[in-house]
Amino acid sequence: SDTSIPKPTAHLSVDSRAAPRQHASHKGSFGDVAVLGGEGLSRRGLSMTGAAWLAALAALHAGAGRVMLALLDAQQSGPQSIAPWPEIMLRQPSAQDWRSATVVCGCGGGQAVADWLPQLLTQAPRLVLDADGLNAVAADPALARELAARAMRRQATVLTPHPLEAARLLQTSAAQIQSHRLQACLELAQKFQCTTLLKGSGTVIASPSSQPWINSSGNARLATGGTGDVLAGLIGALWAQGLTAEQASVQAAFRHGLVAEQWPADRPFSASALAMRLGH
Ligand code: AMP
Ligand code: MG
Repeated sequence: SDTSIPKPTAHLSVDSRAAPRQHASHKGSFGDVAVLGGEGLSRRGLSMTGAAWLAALAALHAGAGRVMLALLDAQQSGPQSIAPWPEIMLRQPSAQDWRSATVVCGCGGGQAVADWLPQLLTQAPRLVLDADGLNAVAADPALARELAARAMRRQATVLTPHPLEAARLLQTSAAQIQSHRLQACLELAQKFQCTTLLKGSGTVIASPSSQPWINSSGNARLATGGTGDVLAGLIGALWAQGLTAEQASVQAAFRHGLVAEQWPADRPFSASALAMRLGH
């Protein structure tokens, strides 16, 4: 009814398969993804390392050339000299990594993520911000200003809130977000000058200066812990491989949903199983 809201591009159906790989390519041809998150043992006694591992696993299986993982607070959770996933490179948080890689930040990170965000927001040229990264921005007006300033410095950002995270960012309730999903997503894209992907059934993707998208793939199989972390890693991998922030978000949402739709009925579904079936 509100004519000021742009019409979404209906029935998103992009080719979810990755482009064929050139024969004379090498790992440097497919971009680096650096995941930052996964707080060890937080003050509340919670370990969130799984979230960051899932994002890294998704980036790896979606074809990123190299995947680096900095588990925040690693000192507290003890040294991790052996990666349980050998292709993933465990690192200390390092400005060198996030200046050149596509960064995925916030998947399980608690206060540790908030501590790293001032540096990340000023230094990372391509940043996917999820979960605790979004919560930190919602809780601190200085971080919110710094996020909005990135576009002016030609640094690109993708925000991936679920309805509650979106509600915190817009200082409203999740119920309000859910009853105005398209409008809420557009508002976030304007407010922070970022590509914004509002998760949930009928994921909306909006960028500051183009028509929004509504994703048509996916089902309630995805309503389980960790699938959002997989999506963040997938966006990072497609972005690192050369798509724009908006294309990577749109394609990632579609592929993520399609894999869930095509899931064999006799195979148990989990976020890590999903990550391993992203394919490339
Ligand atoms: P998160 O809330 O961060 O764990 O992310 C959950 C992921 O699963 C997002 O990509 C959602 O869009 C997706 N998802 C959750 N529930 C559904 C649903 N009922 N239908 C389609 N996608 C869903
Ligand atoms: Mg999440």
